[in-house]
Amino acid sequence: MNSPAVTVAAERQAVVDLEAVRLNVRQLARVAYPAKVMAVVKADAYGHGAVPVARAALEAGASWVGVAHISEAVALRAAGIEAPLLAWLHTPGSDFEAAVAGGIDVGISGWELEPLAAAARAQERPARVHLKIDTGLGRNGSTEAEWDRFVGEAVELQDQGLLRVVGVFSHLAVADEPHRPETDLQLERFRTAVAVAEDAGIDLEVRHMANTPAILARPDAHFDLVRAGLGIYGLSPFPDQTPAELGLRPAMTLRTVLANCKQVPADQGVSYGLHYRTSRPTRLGLVPLGYADGIPRIATGGPVRISGTTYPVVGRIAMDQMVVDLGPADGDDGLAPGTEAVLFGPGDDGEPSVDEWAAAAGTINYEIVTRISPRVTRVYTDSAGARA
Ligand SMILES: *Cc1c(COP(=O)(O)O)cnc(C)c1O
Repeated sequence: MNSPAVTVAAERQAVVDLEAVRLNVRQLARVAYPAKVMAVVKADAYGHGAVPVARAALEAGASWVGVAHISEAVALRAAGIEAPLLAWLHTPGSDFEAAVAGGIDVGISGWELEPLAAAARAQERPARVHLKIDTGLGRNGSTEAEWDRFVGEAVELQDQGLLRVVGVFSHLAVADEPHRPETDLQLERFRTAVAVAEDAGIDLEVRHMANTPAILARPDAHFDLVRAGLGIYGLSPFPDQTPAELGLRPAMTLRTVLANCKQVPADQGVSYGLHYRTSRPTRLGLVPLGYADGIPRIATGGPVRISGTTYPVVGRIAMDQMVVDLGPADGDDGLAPGTEAVLFGPGDDGEPSVDEWAAAAGTINYEIVTRISPRVTRVYTDSAGARA
């Protein structure tokens, strides 16, 4: 049998449709209007590739780019991204000098004022900061008790020309459960914190709080700017709503090709532990993706689309591979090494969703795409180009 020559890059691909990213940004921008959109591209754009996603998002109308680490923002600046950038998670070892030098906005909770002021002094250039208030999530941010003092210190440094306070922000704890009362409480605390900052004479450019679920379900959380992560990748933050119902399109397709396909007898054990045994003579398809590629080991039963049929993974998922039971040969159905196997995608051709893999792994869609490892080649397509 002559299998097609498969290039190395085609063996394992996360194919990212940049036009889907643009469509999602435009949709979220419509929902958030008149608030502006920050495209959140931390963790290599949830596994999609930070630089291409940031560019596509800016083309589609995002006006800010957000990341967790200063190092992630520095890499975006180095790649030529000139839009306002915000980084919000630091340690005393973070490169605050690089943030000031790169004109990167820094979200801060309090202790960062000192190293930032030092960097600003050394470079004779003010540090741009967004003051974070912890309105209930219990992670980063100033406590309400310390907020007045924090704002006062920031104003003092701003008066000395060492700081420019650009924004006030906070992060929501239960926005994916839109009717929980804690969100109302967080919003109330946020409005109070903003008022304190404004009363202290700070002329804020942006107040921001909303993540993807709050963009979609809490218009009262939009303020001037929304921080959109999951939604720009076309995934739904709500268990009971599909991306399509939200006007979103999944951007990533995870595909590979069968590494083997062979006939086995009944009672053939499959993979480590032999937790699956064939019930009849059948064929086993070997899918060359495993937990080293970011497929959770626990996700036995996860769906794989092969030649128009969806098969659950049987037996343990190993480091490099997993197995599907393809059933007895039915005439020549063409299944062979090299036949395409799709784990998830937008669903146009019946391929499974990221959410089905999340269910199989007992996790959320965020984690499935973000964990796809560097061993899987990222490939960029542009369905706008295809349609043109
Ligand atoms: C990751 C993150 C976001 C984006 O959240 P999504 O739910 O993916 O939209 C927004 N703000 C902060 C502070 C974050 O850490």
